[in-house]
Amino acid sequence: MVYVVLAIVLVVLLAGGLAAFLLPRRRSAPPLPPTGQPTGQPTGRPAATGTLAPPTPTPPGTPVPEAATPAAATPEAATPEAATAELTAPEAAALEPALEIPAPTAGRLVRLRARLARSQSSLGRGLLGLLGRERLDDEVWEEIEDTLLQADVGVAATAEIVERLRTRTRVLGTRTEPDLRALLSEELVAALDPTADRTLHTAPAPDGKPAVLLVVGVNGTGKTTTCGKLARVLVADGRTVLLGAADTFRAAAADQLETWGSRVGARTVRSHAGADPASVAFEAVKQGIESHVDTVLVDTAGRLHTKTGLMDELGKVKRVIEKHGPVDETLLVLDATTGQNGVIQARVFTEAVDVTGIVLTKLDGTAKGGIVIAVQRELGVPVKLIGLGEGADDLAPFEPEAFVDALLG
Ligand code: GDP
Repeated sequence: MVYVVLAIVLVVLLAGGLAAFLLPRRRSAPPLPPTGQPTGQPTGRPAATGTLAPPTPTPPGTPVPEAATPAAATPEAATPEAATAELTAPEAAALEPALEIPAPTAGRLVRLRARLARSQSSLGRGLLGLLGRERLDDEVWEEIEDTLLQADVGVAATAEIVERLRTRTRVLGTRTEPDLRALLSEELVAALDPTADRTLHTAPAPDGKPAVLLVVGVNGTGKTTTCGKLARVLVADGRTVLLGAADTFRAAAADQLETWGSRVGARTVRSHAGADPASVAFEAVKQGIESHVDTVLVDTAGRLHTKTGLMDELGKVKRVIEKHGPVDETLLVLDATTGQNGVIQARVFTEAVDVTGIVLTKLDGTAKGGIVIAVQRELGVPVKLIGLGEGADDLAPFEPEAFVDALLG
């Protein structure tokens, strides 16, 4: 019996020991990760990769690693307004971009003459070389004619220039280089109609209302850039200017104009993309009258859709502006590099609105400077300004003598 009791006690002790050995090992097994939390990812940090779940919000008071802090979390850096709110007035003024003082317009073409280098070598030097030949036979005259045509002078003007040069060289006693240069210069200047009125009417009316300038042309010709440069020309000449961004078709046009204006202190009246151009133009002139500026410059859209559409739109812009008073200038912007095609496009505009002057842009990028002659003759409107580069002050009043002088080198 004693043996039986001892055997039972032994079995119980052995079972207890075995259980004590096994149970602690089970408890130390790793817990299962909570649903959605990647294993090994510290709480509060977004997973480097994978999109299992959004990062667990950090409990208040827990320091947040720098890389995980969005910029806006720093209150004082949240907005530029907040950043400048505590600045004193002089400090804030110092942050404003300084207004630029544009170069005076007088003699600009003379200063920019080097920009006509391409036309100078093809047209000016080409003609002088041919006229200087020992014998001026039919073949040479044909070459002279070709040179003029290639420079886009146009058929009618070329025929006239050649005819006059032929007659005058025949009667000229000597044919020295200075003589020939003077002769050619006279004929080219004459073809550019030096007596045409190229004045820009930008002065306010006697009743104090601002002069209104409408700028029209096909998109891409440099219309908005010209408005910006023209604002500078006017400011340089002592006028106060307000800009109207009525090219509501091209989304960036208003921003572009505003940037140009802000550089010289000219305010821009604008609306949202797709707004009615006529209402923007009306509002610009209204604000120009109220703020007593000298000149209001209105940029328009030049979509080459249907001729009727364009005529309707421009006609409406002009009529609506005229509720305030007359439009003083309608300037047509033409890209010189488009040659005779540009002249054909231009006709659509001259039929839609009463164009008073032409701005011929990109003359720096063409060897076809003769387009100035063709444009004036074919449209019957004087070239008043020329664009000679993308720089802010690369727009010059057109002067026939200085232009021809630059062409002949
Ligand atoms: P818009 O669509 O008619 O308003 O044309 P923009 O004013 O936007 O001008 C179109 C491009 O022509 C821009 O890149 C201008 O910098 C450029 N441009 C304008 N005028 C001249 C110029 O006289 N010479 C040169 N080289 N580029 C010009």
